Amino acid sequence: MTDQEIYQSWIDHMTNNSGMQFTGNEHMMRMITSWVSPEEAAFTTGFPLFPPKTIEEIAEIKQMEIPELKEKIEALARKGMIYESIGGDSVRYRMWSFGEIFMRVPEWAGRDDEPFRTMVRHGNKWYPTMRMRGKAEVHAGLRSIPINETVESPSQLLPFEDIIQVVDKYEFHSVSYCCCRMRYNLDPDYPDTPFPLETCLHFNELGRYIVKNGLGREITKEETLEILKKAADAGLIHGLQNAEAAPETICNCDIEYCTFLRPYHQLGFDKSMDQSNYAVQVTPETCKACGLCVKRCPMDAIQMKFSAESTNKFRKAVVVDTDLCIGCGVCVHKCPAESIILKRKETITRPPKTDMERMRINYMAMQAGKQKADSDHQSSTD
Ligand code: SF4
Ligand code: SF4
Ligand code: SF4
Repeated sequence: MTDQEIYQSWIDHMTNNSGMQFTGNEHMMRMITSWVSPEEAAFTTGFPLFPPKTIEEIAEIKQMEIPELKEKIEALARKGMIYESIGGDSVRYRMWSFGEIFMRVPEWAGRDDEPFRTMVRHGNKWYPTMRMRGKAEVHAGLRSIPINETVESPSQLLPFEDIIQVVDKYEFHSVSYCCCRMRYNLDPDYPDTPFPLETCLHFNELGRYIVKNGLGREITKEETLEILKKAADAGLIHGLQNAEAAPETICNCDIEYCTFLRPYHQLGFDKSMDQSNYAVQVTPETCKACGLCVKRCPMDAIQMKFSAESTNKFRKAVVVDTDLCIGCGVCVHKCPAESIILKRKETITRPPKTDMERMRINYMAMQAGKQKADSDHQSSTD
C-alpha cells in the first residue's frame, strides 16, 4: 500500500465508525500527515472506536502478541490517539474520535514543537470547512453552568448546576491546557489570547487517564475551585460536559477561540452551549449604564436601551435577550451596581443523562431534518 492509500483507509475507518461526515481538503491532509505517521495510521486502522475493547479482543483483531500490542497502545495513549478506560475491573481501549485526535487531546499537554505547530496551523484552516455540528443539533457538548455567586439564591441551585456540588463529587482532579486557546496561540495567523491557559478540568476516570499519559497534572479539589474562581474573574464561561449522570469535564471558555462559541459567532452555527436554567433579571432603577455587562456577555445578548425607570444621566438600562442568553452569569459577576442577577427559570430542563443519549438525540434530529429536506425537495420537483 502507498502512504496515500494507508491514510485514506485510516480516514475511512475513523469516519465510517463514528457516524461523522466532513469535507476533506488539502489542509485536512496536511493536518493528518504532519501529526500521524503512516505506521501509526496503519496500526490504528481497524482499532475500535465504540465500544472500547480489552487488550485480548484487540490482539485478536490486530493478530498481534499482547506485549508488542501493549507497547504500541501505550505510546499512542501518550500521544492522545488512544483512550484507556477502566470499566469495572477491566481495562478497555478505544481510539479518540477524529476531531479529538487533532483538536482536543494532544493540546491538553501544552506541547510546542514543529510537527505539532504544523498540524495545528492546518487544522485551524480546515476547521471552518468541517461543519461537524450543524443546524439539527439539539444538545451541544457543553452546558453553561452559572458562576455560583451570580445566582440569586445559590443554596437553591439545582444539584447538576451547582458547580461546588458537582466538583465536590469527584475523587480525582486534573488540569490541562485549554485545547482551543492553545491551538490559536501556536498559530502565527492569530493573536495570542489574553485569557489563562491552564483551565481545562477533568475528573475521575478521564482525569486519571490524562495524568497517567502526561496530558495534564493532578490537582486538589481546592486548586480546582481556585482555577474556577480565577476563570470567572477573567470573564471565562464555565461549561460542564452535557451529561447529567457522569460529567468528567469542566471547561472555562472564551468567546474568541472556544470550539463551542467560535462556530456560533464566526461560522454561523445555530448553537453554542446549552442554556442553564437561570436567566438574568435587571433592576433598571440602579443600573449605571456603564456598559461593562454588554462587553462581557459572550452571546451578545445584552443591549443598552432607553428606560423610563432608570435613574442615571443617560436614562438608559440594559435589556437581555432571553433566547440568546445561556445563563452563565459572566455579566452579573462584575456589575458595579448589583443591578443584574440570575434567577431560576420557571421551567426546568435537565441535561441528557449520558453522552450517548445526547448523541442519539442529535442523530435522530439530524435524520428527521434530512428526511424533511428530502421530502420537501421531492414535493417541489413533483
Ligand atoms: S471548550 Fe472551552 S475550555 Fe474547553 S478547550 Fe475549548 S475554550 Fe478551552
Ligand atoms: S447592569 Fe451593571 S454592568 Fe450592566 S450596565 Fe448596568 S450597572 Fe453596568
Ligand atoms: S446575558 Fe450574557 S453574560 Fe449574562 S448570563 Fe446571559 S449569556 Fe451570560
